[in-house]
Amino acid sequence: MLHLVLCFSVWILISTFLFWRLIAIAKTAVDHLKRLHQVPCSNCAYFTGDYRLKCTVNPLDAMSETAIGCRDFIIKSDCRSNNQGISSGGCFAKNKFNHTETKEKRPAFKLK
Ligand code: SF4
Repeated sequence: MLHLVLCFSVWILISTFLFWRLIAIAKTAVDHLKRLHQVPCSNCAYFTGDYRLKCTVNPLDAMSETAIGCRDFIIKSDCRSNNQGISSGGCFAKNKFNHTETKEKRPAFKLK
């Protein structure tokens, strides 16, 4: 009978330890996910959405924890309000250069 009580106590101890360990792992995972949700890149004007070059300003930091609090972050809608455009997820200044004017002013290339 003593063996049965001892085995049951050990089993309860191990089960309790595993249960608390499982809760600790789940809490760590939730904290990590909350931290990853603070990465602002998906709402940033410089985020390209292309896996080859995720960000045109900080390509090494994009979509990682180091991007949290990025000082180059510009929200996508700010690009439109600052008279800039968005091209393929990136921000660029509107091209105010008129190509038709330069073609007329540029001297024609002549073969000798
Ligand atoms: S500028 Fe900063 S916040 Fe924006 S995409 Fe690049 S790393 Fe992310």
